[in-house]
Amino acid sequence: MKPDQLLRPMPAGLYCPAGDFYIDPVRPVARALITHGHSDHARAGHGAVLATRETLDIMGIRYGEDFCGSMQAAAFGERIDLNGVTVSFHPAGHVLGSAQIAVEKDGLRIVASGDYKRGADPTCAAYEPIACDVFITEATFGLPVFHHPQPKAEMGKLLTSLRQFPERSHLVGAYSLGKSQRVIRLLRDCGYDAPIYIHGSLARLCDYYVSRGIDLGDLRPATLEKGDPTDFRGAVIVGPPSAFADRWARRFNEPLIAFASGWMMVRQRAKQGGVELPLVISDHCDWPELTETIRELAPNEVWVTHGREEALVRWCELAGVPAKPLHLVGYEDEGD
Ligand SMILES: [Zn+2]
Repeated sequence: MKPDQLLRPMPAGLYCPAGDFYIDPVRPVARALITHGHSDHARAGHGAVLATRETLDIMGIRYGEDFCGSMQAAAFGERIDLNGVTVSFHPAGHVLGSAQIAVEKDGLRIVASGDYKRGADPTCAAYEPIACDVFITEATFGLPVFHHPQPKAEMGKLLTSLRQFPERSHLVGAYSLGKSQRVIRLLRDCGYDAPIYIHGSLARLCDYYVSRGIDLGDLRPATLEKGDPTDFRGAVIVGPPSAFADRWARRFNEPLIAFASGWMMVRQRAKQGGVELPLVISDHCDWPELTETIRELAPNEVWVTHGREEALVRWCELAGVPAKPLHLVGYEDEGD
C-alpha cells in the first residue's frame, strides 16, 4: 500500500479511505478522529468522534455535551480497529489531551502529529516520538528564524515588570485553551503565589485542568462588581487577547498589556496589538525542534502541513528525506 492510499488530503481534511474516517476535519463528517481541542482542529457537528478523554471533555465544555452524534475515548497507546485500519493516540505535548494519531495498515504506519512541541510543559503529557514510515508534521513556526526562548525566562520578564510597576494591573493575554493554564502554572513554578485573576471565559477550562490534577493555585474571577479598579493594583489578570480590546480591560488600574504567544517573536505583531510586554511562550515546535524531531524519527517521508510548509520541505530534501506540502486549508491555530 502506498502512503497516499492510506491517508490523503481532501477538502474536509486528511481522509483515510480504507478506514472511512477523517483526522481533524474542517467540515462535518460521519467519523472524525480529533487530535486536540483547539477550535481549528476540533469542530462540532460530526457523527462519531474518537479522541482522548480530555479532548472529548474539552469539546463538551466548548460546544455543549451534544457536539457530536456519538463519542469514544481513546487511551494513549490503545490500538483501535476501524474497518481493518489500526489507529492509536500518543501524547503530543501541545495542550491537555493533545495527541498524535498513528494510522496503520499492511505494515505501513503514518503518524499525524497534530500540533506538538518538545519543550517541558507540566500542564500536559510530554510528546512521545513514534517510529513511522511517514511523519505528518505541523510547521506553524517552520522558518529558521523561529527560536523560542526558555518560557521561565519569559515569565521572569513579567515578574520584573510587577516589581518595577507595583501600581499597575498586569493584563496577560493568553488563549483560553492551553496557553492561559500554562502561563498560570509557569508563574506558580517561578514562585508567584499571590491570587491570579482570570477573565470569565477562562473559568470552565481552568476548572477542568484543576480537575485533571493540574494545580493552578489561587484563581479568582476578575470582576469589579463590588470593588473599584484599585482592587487590582499590582495584580496579574489573565484573559483572552480579544477581551483586551474592549471595555473589560479599561476598568483596570493603569493596565499594562502583556501577551503570551509564539508570535511575540515577531516585533511587528506585538506593536500592532499594542502589547507593551511581549512574552514569547509557544505551544508549537520552533525550527530546531521541528528539524530535530524529523532527524530523530528518520521517517521515509515527511508531509508538512499548516504553517510555513515550503521551508521545512526544502530542509527535508536537503537532509535526504523526501517531503511534500499537504496544503490543507482551514487551520489557523487559536493557541499559538
Ligand atoms: Zn493547537
